[in-house]
Amino acid sequence: MAEPLFERIAFLGIGLIGSSVARIARERGDIAREIVVNARTQKTLDRVMELGFADRVELDPGKAVEGADCVMLCAPVGAFADLAAKIAPHLAQGAVLTDVGSTKQSVIRDVGPLIPAGVHFVPAHPVAGTEYSGPDSGFTTLFQGRWTLVTPPPGTDEVSVEKISELWRRCGSMVERMEAGHHDRVLAIVSHLPHLIAFTICGTADDLADESRQEVINFAASGFRDFTRIAASDPVMWRDIFLNNREAVLEMLQRFMEDAQGMARAIRWGDAEYIEGMVERGRKIRRSLIQQKQA
Ligand code: NAP
Repeated sequence: MAEPLFERIAFLGIGLIGSSVARIARERGDIAREIVVNARTQKTLDRVMELGFADRVELDPGKAVEGADCVMLCAPVGAFADLAAKIAPHLAQGAVLTDVGSTKQSVIRDVGPLIPAGVHFVPAHPVAGTEYSGPDSGFTTLFQGRWTLVTPPPGTDEVSVEKISELWRRCGSMVERMEAGHHDRVLAIVSHLPHLIAFTICGTADDLADESRQEVINFAASGFRDFTRIAASDPVMWRDIFLNNREAVLEMLQRFMEDAQGMARAIRWGDAEYIEGMVERGRKIRRSLIQQKQA
């Protein structure tokens, strides 16, 4: 077994993502020697002890990070500023502070200024997930063959960037470095806009008259069902993502609405070629995802 990357890792927030990393760390043994977990509620911490992937739990975030040489923020991104303010005075010199948040410019904006000198901040985002949340939902193969995007601001300590990259490789992930603003635009189109559409379409269906609504449930398999899976995601997490990636989400939504208008026009005027072309492009994208094993 390789030497552990860290002596002690502290997780702040332990839902789907945090508990998956913690389970992998426990199973492999070469990520950290000791695992400390903090969450917002004692109930979650009690459950974490039952699940057995932590050495210690700590309700006070400041105490949780004391003596840790790696700290990973795994709460919803809207909670990061408050958490960072609470832990800042307790972070050990030389520690690496990282996160798994789905938006990156906002995290750099909220957390960056609060970090004491001598602590290295390496923002990252594992692009993997399910619609489930909480410490029971994590599993060790979540990141297998998926990408993790590491978005260090210019001037970040390279040794720390490499350690966090290696942590994700040991979790089974492929790692790529990306500028934070670029990350936010890419994620707006591949993740945030599709979720926005899924939440909206479920709302539209729910607004239908009662008898049609029952039919939506009965015949959901014809396409609607895939949207409902995406729309089952955690409301607080998604509220925070939309509010913290506002510009990029609004830009992609604008582009989408223009293209949807294009489809509406084609349907109205019977432009068969345009419609067929759009469907063909969708099929092509699906085929290339399958080829790249990202389907
Ligand atoms: P989750 O399952 O909902 O768990 C959230 C955890 O954060 C819980 O342990 C919760 O503690 C804690 N928490 C919630 N609000 C808090 C607050 N205000 N202050 C401190 N702690 C708080 O979340 P997740 O799905 O793992 O997502 C965690 C992070 O990963 C988010 O930033 C998200 O953007 C990012 N991410 C998610 C996915 C995904 O598909 N789910 C994928 C990639 C990245 P309690 O249980 O005690 O309430």
